[in-house]
Amino acid sequence: MLLFKQAESLRKHLSQQRQKARSIGFVPTMGALHQGHLSLVQQSKELTDISVVSIFVNPTQFNEEADLFAYPRTPEKDILKLKKVGTDVIFMPEKSVIYPSDIDLTIDWDFSHLTQNMEGKFRPGHFEGVVMVVKRLLDLVHPTHLFMGQKDFQQAVLIQNMIQHYQLPVSLAISPIVREKDGLAMSSRNVHLTPIGRGIAPIIAKTLKSVKERVGMHTPLALKQWALEQFSNLNLEVDYFEIVHAQTLKPIAAFNPEERSVACTVVRIDGVRLLDNIYLT
Ligand code: AMP
Repeated sequence: MLLFKQAESLRKHLSQQRQKARSIGFVPTMGALHQGHLSLVQQSKELTDISVVSIFVNPTQFNEEADLFAYPRTPEKDILKLKKVGTDVIFMPEKSVIYPSDIDLTIDWDFSHLTQNMEGKFRPGHFEGVVMVVKRLLDLVHPTHLFMGQKDFQQAVLIQNMIQHYQLPVSLAISPIVREKDGLAMSSRNVHLTPIGRGIAPIIAKTLKSVKERVGMHTPLALKQWALEQFSNLNLEVDYFEIVHAQTLKPIAAFNPEERSVACTVVRIDGVRLLDNIYLT
């Protein structure tokens, strides 16, 4: 396993691999790795010759300074975990490598149609930072395959649209959400939960599952209201619960079995934003 901190050495190594016609799989992460991240690496290993994982806590996608400061950082453990699953290349750049002062990384694509609700609404500026960092990382790594999690559903749809917009020669694979035994979606932020909060948290996945079971019987609006009620019965703070079209990300008024819809939610427990979603149709 090789570890690069500089863009030039990474670029040189990967261009040698490309010359040997090797396919390159790329998994961008912010570290504090868990089985959800590792499942993406495992998928990359199955589908490509070389698996590259980046660990970079991207400051431009944090809309709150305190959240950036508190974000868990476990680089030594991450390196061990990545080695264990057979990662070929780790890229751990400093901020100045991703955002050098002499390169203009401004994004000239208007993606506001995809960010008007959900994370886009509740975290102003977040997706500008995500698009900027993913575009920059793709320009450095030039992977043939990109692996992202369904966990960040809006982000995955946005990046798929970005790839189409810039006609980037990379295919995006979106992997299912990896969950704890009790259903809680794995997240680096789960370490911030108190034992009591951790005990309550599985209600999010449970509610999403129950919503899916009720799809044939109720409208999206009725199911949204029902889900919000489940959370408010436990006095939980909800940023949003939306049932949206899987491609346009717009809330839907009725279910169409021919088109994919997704229920997406963020519930706050112990001040931690817990993000989860489920495909409904
Ligand atoms: P992050 O480090 O949180 O930026 O996540 C890096 C990648 O891992 C993103 O594509 C996430 O969607 C994905 N990911 C995070 N949590 C999970 C999970 N529980 N299951 C599957 N993928 C995940």
